[in-house]
Amino acid sequence: MRDQLELLWELQKIDLDLKHIKEERERYPREIKKLDERMSIEKERLQTEKGKVDLLEKERREKERQLSSSQEKIKKAEGRMSEVKTNKEYQALLTEIETIKGASSREEEEILQVLEEIDELKKDLSKREKEVAALLEKIEVEKKSTQERMAQDEILWKERMERREVLSKQIESKLYKLYHTLKEKRQGVGVVNVKKETCQGCFVHIPPQMFIEVQKNNEIIRCPNCNRILYFKGEGKAK
Ligand SMILES: [Zn+2]
Repeated sequence: MRDQLELLWELQKIDLDLKHIKEERERYPREIKKLDERMSIEKERLQTEKGKVDLLEKERREKERQLSSSQEKIKKAEGRMSEVKTNKEYQALLTEIETIKGASSREEEEILQVLEEIDELKKDLSKREKEVAALLEKIEVEKKSTQERMAQDEILWKERMERREVLSKQIESKLYKLYHTLKEKRQGVGVVNVKKETCQGCFVHIPPQMFIEVQKNNEIIRCPNCNRILYFKGEGKAK
């Protein structure tokens, strides 16, 4: 029976590993999805900021076109100066030139303002770009390590399943069935260690005489409280 209990104990450890891997398998895709979502949010945000700069650049080009057309008009008006014959015409032309000059200096001012805005945004943007690049790199590393853990878990899963197959054949079918039933009812744990007269499954004290028997690992003894099969693997020293 001692051998049987030892095999059962090993099976229990394997089943807990498998349970853990199963939970991880469900968790990993969610984790990766979350990382992907974060990545696209950051990229989108950066794109919006770049869009703002593009819009201002467009505005600047538009204003520069206006300015050069104003300057063209001034040149033409000034060219007409020599053809002026009367004082009235001269005054009118002068007023026209002044008006266009006024507009053109406003345009110049506006261009400067837009340029300043662009500079400011570009400074922020290059800072943001560096931050986002660093963040994306971090996310990529996280994603990769998650994928690596997934791959490792798959290898572990295969190994554990193979060993499980061997063990389940070595364990007497009656004991195996009992273990299986208990495992189903008790959150995946059918056989538990006993430490300091305490069941490590439900943490309830067991009678001293029972503890003495359990330490021998010679028979199937079940916890009076949670019904699980009790196993003694030694105080402290791990097997
Ligand atoms: Zn118990």
